[in-house]
Amino acid sequence: MIISEAKPLAELHEALAPFGKLFLVGCAACATACKAGGEDELFRFQEWLAGEGKETTGSVVIDEACHLMRAARDLRQHAAAVAAADALVVLACGSGVQSISANTDKRVVGALNSLFLAMCAALASMRRCARCAATASSMKPPVSAR
Ligand code: SF4
Repeated sequence: MIISEAKPLAELHEALAPFGKLFLVGCAACATACKAGGEDELFRFQEWLAGEGKETTGSVVIDEACHLMRAARDLRQHAAAVAAADALVVLACGSGVQSISANTDKRVVGALNSLFLAMCAALASMRRCARCAATASSMKPPVSAR
């Protein structure tokens, strides 16, 4: 799975400055397991957006946001809310951002930072897979279990 965490709100404040209406996309797989892009996180993000004076036109948590066909299907099911938005905000890893971008002509903003590919039996015991670990010396330490 891909381990991700929320971007700093100051960074998102700047990235979302041009947009008044937003459609939110989460991911029910890794991003939910990381407590970064599931239903609860979308709800809290929507609350934060409201405090920023922005409107959320709708939201969806896709089974796997990186699955192109599932993303296409779920965005189709929310076509009116997507059409009403100035941009889509994706609470998933970079692969999810790419998948959503491939399925819309709207601007897409990623709200999470992808940290590393992990193997885990449980979130508390996740560790880098061998490929990431081999190149991880210049990266910051793994996130602690949340
Ligand atoms: S979009 Fe990213 S976080 Fe979601 S299932 Fe795919 S790899 Fe995992």
